Amino acid sequence: MDVKQAIQLLQNEGYKVTKPRENMLYYFEEEDGYRTAKDFMLFTEENYESMSFDTVYRNLHLYHSLGILESTDLDGEKHFRMNCMTDHHHHFICKDCGNTKKIPICPMGEIEEMLTDYDIEGHKLEVYGVCPLCQSA
Ligand SMILES: [Zn+2]
Ligand SMILES: [Zn+2]
Ligand SMILES: [Zn+2]
Repeated sequence: MDVKQAIQLLQNEGYKVTKPRENMLYYFEEEDGYRTAKDFMLFTEENYESMSFDTVYRNLHLYHSLGILESTDLDGEKHFRMNCMTDHHHHFICKDCGNTKKIPICPMGEIEEMLTDYDIEGHKLEVYGVCPLCQSA
């Protein structure tokens, strides 16, 4: 998902695309990794008019419910990133910087072979660790 697609989606759903909402989209597109509400607030304070925590939180959840952002829990805190929406893949997620690396394979084929009598409805796979950049820092 890119900013243009996200704006289109918001408009189709009848949401007003305000400047702060647009800034939030550009932030997540630019970051291309998992970020918290707090990360975004620090960024807005430095670059734009600051937004209240409530507004940030509400918009994050709106974007998540519309599928613009995907989320995961890291160290007990909700993190968000722009939804990739490309071919099916998984992510390595750096626990230090939140950046992700695409894992282009999916082990579900093998797993389904172990679960032939089961009705599988979905799956979630994330790999956690420290990225090379953070290791050398
Ligand atoms: Zn991805
Ligand atoms: Zn890292
Ligand atoms: Zn998969």
